[in-house]
Amino acid sequence: MRFPVFKTKMRKKGDETRVFDLNNPKERREYFYLKAGKEIKKLKEYFNKGNSFVAYLLGKKNSGKGTYSKMFAEIVNPKKIEHFSIGDMIRGIDKELKDKKKRKELIEFLKKNYRGWYSLEKLVSSLEKRSTKILLPTELILVLVKREIAKRKKKTIFIDGFPRDLDQISYSLFFRDLIGYRDDQDVFVLIDVPEKVIDERIKSRVVCPLCQTSRNLRLLPTSKIGYDRKKKEFYLLCDNPQCREVRLLPKEGDAWGIKPIKDRLKKDGKLIEQAFSLQGIPKVLLRNSVPKRLAKEYVDDYEITPEYYYQWSEKDKRAVIKEKPWIAKDDEGSPSYSLLPPPVVVSLIKQLADILNL
Ligand SMILES: [Zn+2]
Repeated sequence: MRFPVFKTKMRKKGDETRVFDLNNPKERREYFYLKAGKEIKKLKEYFNKGNSFVAYLLGKKNSGKGTYSKMFAEIVNPKKIEHFSIGDMIRGIDKELKDKKKRKELIEFLKKNYRGWYSLEKLVSSLEKRSTKILLPTELILVLVKREIAKRKKKTIFIDGFPRDLDQISYSLFFRDLIGYRDDQDVFVLIDVPEKVIDERIKSRVVCPLCQTSRNLRLLPTSKIGYDRKKKEFYLLCDNPQCREVRLLPKEGDAWGIKPIKDRLKKDGKLIEQAFSLQGIPKVLLRNSVPKRLAKEYVDDYEITPEYYYQWSEKDKRAVIKEKPWIAKDDEGSPSYSLLPPPVVVSLIKQLADILNL
C-alpha cells in the first residue's frame, strides 16, 4: 500500500516567489486561498446549502487526525464541521458516571437503547474501570455515539477513533444510517505518517504544567526559549498569553518514543490497509511525508517541517531559535521530509471537493 505524493507546489507565474509562514494564522489563510481557493469556495457553498457528510479518520496514533480536521473546519466552515473524537466522548461519559443525576440518566438511556451481549452492570463497569488497552463493546460505542450526535444540530463530522478494530470496519459501512445521516456521502480519510515522524513527535514533546499546551522541542517550539547553563540545555517557555512563562516539561515515558505503542501502531496499520481495500466507499489519501528526491518538484520549501535548534547569543544574552532541514526515513526507508499540516489539508480539501463532485 503506497499513498501518492500530492503536488502542492505552485506553478502560476509570480506566485512561486511568495513564502508563507504557515504557523501564522493570517498567512496560513492566504496560503489556503492561493493553493485551493476554488475548492474552498465550492465547499463553502456546499455547506451553506445545508449539505453535510461523514468522514472516518484513520491514521496511526499521533498521526495528526485532530489537527487536519480542525484546520479543514477552520478554513471551510467552523460552525458546520466538527471533529468528533471517541476518546473524548468516553472521557466525558466517565465524568457523567461520577454525577449522581447524570449517571441515572445514562443508565436509563442504555436500558432503552443498548442491544448486545452484555448486561447493564457489565457495561457500566466496563465504562468505569476502563484502561485504554481494553476495547469497549462495539454495540456500546455505537449507541453512545448515536446519543452524542443526536444532541447536536446536524453537522459534518470527522469521526476520530472509530472504526478502531478490524471487526468494526464493516460497522462503519452502515454507520451513517444508524446516526440519521442516510443521504449523506460518507468517506474514509486515510492518513499515512512514517513511524519515525511519530517517534520524534513523542520523544521531543513537552507540555506546560499549568495550561497543558503541548509543543515540541525539535519540531514545534514556542516563541520563548530558556537556557540552563549548568546542564547546558535549552528548554521552551510557555508563550500562551493566558498562562505564565514557565518551563515546558517532557512527560513521563515520552523518552521511549513509539516503543511502548509498537503493537498499537501495527494494529492501526492493519486497519488502514483493510480500509484501503474496501470497495464502494470513496477514500481520501493523505500523506505526511515526501521523499527527498521528489520534494523540489512536488512541494514548496516552506511547506516542509524544519528541525529547530538553539544557540546562545552572548551579545544579546539570550537563546536564539535556528532552523535546518529535517530528514527522516519513511516506512519504506527512503529519506523524506515531513510536511507541515497546511499542505496536507490542501490535499484533503481538493480530494474532498472531487469526491463530492463540486
Ligand atoms: Zn502554559
